[in-house]
Order: sequence, then C-alpha cells, then structure tokens
Amino acid sequence: MQIHPTCCLAVVKIASRCNLNCTYCYMYNLGDRTALAQPKTMPDAVIDATVDICMKHAAEHGLKRFRFVFHGGEPLMAGASKFQRLIEAARLRGRDVGVVPDFSIQTNGTLLTDYWCRRLADWGVSVGVSLDGPKAVNDRQRVTHTDEGSYDKVIAGWDRAKAHGLRPGILTVIDPVSAADKAYKHLRELGPINVDFLLPDVNHDRRPPGDLGGTPHADWLLDVFRLWYSEAERPFRVRVFEQIIATTLGLAYPNDSMGAGENEIVVIETDGEVGPVDTLRAAIPGASRTGVNVLRDSLAAALDHPLLRQYHGSNSSLCATCRACPINRICGGGYLSHRYSAARGFDNPSVYCNDLTKLITVVRRNVLDMLPDEALRQANLVPWSAAEVAAARGDIVAVLTADREE
Ligand code: SF4
Ligand code: SF4
Repeated sequence: MQIHPTCCLAVVKIASRCNLNCTYCYMYNLGDRTALAQPKTMPDAVIDATVDICMKHAAEHGLKRFRFVFHGGEPLMAGASKFQRLIEAARLRGRDVGVVPDFSIQTNGTLLTDYWCRRLADWGVSVGVSLDGPKAVNDRQRVTHTDEGSYDKVIAGWDRAKAHGLRPGILTVIDPVSAADKAYKHLRELGPINVDFLLPDVNHDRRPPGDLGGTPHADWLLDVFRLWYSEAERPFRVRVFEQIIATTLGLAYPNDSMGAGENEIVVIETDGEVGPVDTLRAAIPGASRTGVNVLRDSLAAALDHPLLRQYHGSNSSLCATCRACPINRICGGGYLSHRYSAARGFDNPSVYCNDLTKLITVVRRNVLDMLPDEALRQANLVPWSAAEVAAARGDIVAVLTADREE
C-alpha cells in the first residue's frame, strides 16, 4: 500500500544570508556553498507558491493547523514586507480551506529592533533566539564577519523583545567544556519560554569537538537536567527532556531528532526548492538539494522524493545496532545527519550513541523512580542502566565505558 506522507511544518528560508558568521554554521562554514548561490531574499512568487502548496497540502490531509517557521541565514534580513506577504496570504488562504496557520521565527536576535518586535508581536509570530550561553561561551563561536562576539547585541535584542511583551524561546548549541550550572543560571535569569539544546553538527567522519571518548555531551545535559528537574516549578520547557519523559511514559512526541514518529517537516529554500532538514549539508555538501520546487511541483511530489522519504522515516529506518537497542523507541537512532559516514552513508548509529544512551537511561530512570512498583510491573517498564542497554545491542566497548562511569 502506498503511504502518503504528510507535512505540518515548513521551514521557510526567507533570507539566505546572515549578518553573523558562526564558526560551526552548517549554512556557510561546514563545506556546503549552496546557500551563497541562492537569491538573497525569497522572491514574492516563491512566497506565494509556498503558501499555496502548503495550505493546499494541509487541507487535503485534513490538518487543522500548519506551521511556518521563518528561517535563514538571518530571516530578519529579508525585510518586513516579505513577512507580511507570507502571513497575510497564509491567513487568507487558510480561511478558504479551514486551516489555521501558525508562525514562528528563529533569529540570531541581533537585529531585533523596536520596529521588528512590534511587528512580530502584532503578527502573532512566536520568537526563538539562538544563544549559546553566557557571553564568554556564546562569543567563542557565535561571531560576526569581523570575529566579534555577538552576545551584547543578542541580549539587547532579547531585552527589547521582552519589553514588547514577547516571551522568546532559546536555541542553544551545547559546548560540553562550558559550565552547565552557569549556563542553567544564565538561562533562568533570561526567562525564556522554552529552551532547545542542540548537539553540534558532526558525524562519524567529522567527530564531535574535543572528542576524547566518554560522554561529555550527556554529562553536560544531565547536569542541566538535575537542576531543571529538581525545581518545584520548572522555569522553562526543555524539549529534549520533555521528549524523553513523554516517550518513556508511552506518549507521542513527534520530533526529527529523537523518538519513533514520522518527521513532518520540509525546508523551503529561498529559491523555492523543497528539501529535508538542511543540516544534512553538514554531512554531505549539497545533500539537501532535491530539484523539487514550489514554483512547479506539489508538496506531495516533494514528500515523495527519496531524500525526503529517508528524512521523514529516519526514526524508524534504523541500522542493525539501533534495531537491537532497547531504547530505540525513545532515541530513534538520533538525528539523521549525526549518523553519516562516507563508508556507510546513514546506516550507522548516531555518532552521539554513547551520549544518547547515558542521557536517555538516566532521565528515564528518574521518571520511573517516581512511579509505584506495581505500575512499572504492569507496564513492563524496566529501568535499564546504560551498560545493560549497550550489552543488549552487543556493544562491548560501550558496556565497559558505562560500567566505569556508573
Ligand atoms: S546566526 Fe545562524 S545562520 Fe547566521 S551564521 Fe550563525 S548559525 Fe549561521
Ligand atoms: S542509543 Fe545508540 S544504538 Fe540506541 S537507538 Fe540511539 S543511536 Fe541507536
């Protein structure tokens, strides 16, 4: 039977250039040069076609909501008229077809002027700001084209956004050599609505920064988790923790970096090309290109492209090691781009496998510790250790490492 994939979220690359030049940026600094061949801002015809195919797709699949995420480069470089065009067209079209569009933006925050804050608030666009921690941590990698740190400008934009009644979220690429407790305190002071911690974009051929074995990314995240989980009232939501907690309890939490569900995201490039998550460029330059374009193709045609099928099914299409792993329904084999090696393509566990094993087993155990023994027995929920998980998938090295650490 032919399965018709759906999509409920379009990442819209409304601008393809950026006023920052972060050292780890997969758009410009990890080998892929395709962003620089894109138009600087999305042409009006592409905006119109994007709205058209997305709302049509949502209506055909009976979706009540469809999310547009303004992205870049730095999306605020596109100018307000581009935003207004997309928002007004989506609302108008949505009324015709019974679909409510939602809007959010992922910005580096440095261009959040009073004008932009007013517009975003008026349009009802929820805001996510990229910030990697306190000034010394953020400014190591999030720099301008003249190598100056971006922190002060981001915080000025952040303060303006809050003054205008916006309550932005924060997206942080974690730096495991930084102090997790200071990062947590800093986030608490800023008061975001949610925090999304991302693992650096690496793979089996380009190893994690400072890779000396061990589980530094899990250790960093678990230090944050312990502080967050012990709060009487959680000050902000954290996607990675909520996802592990929800899936431990058997609840659905669709997401493209973890879990067992289908990913329902497409990326629409500035020139209208539709692709999978564009961090794949961090693995293989040009890998996110499909040749399918909103100007001539439907979203169904894009979703049928082999690359999008692979991305959308990535959490259920696993390598042999992941298939044998008892926590694969929580982990989902990790983010697709983190699985890549030139030798085996994406047929590998995540390069962060040991980190994910430790992170998931520790968070999971904290959740299961709260449940009565009878409930655990009835639901057949076993609080495995990292060593037990590694042993179940036949990973002797990981068993020894986990044994040493537990
Ligand atoms: S702000 Fe985002 S798009 Fe711009 S250079 Fe940094 S990571 Fe890349
Ligand atoms: S923990 Fe490792 S082996 Fe298990 S599903 Fe995740 S990446 Fe695969």
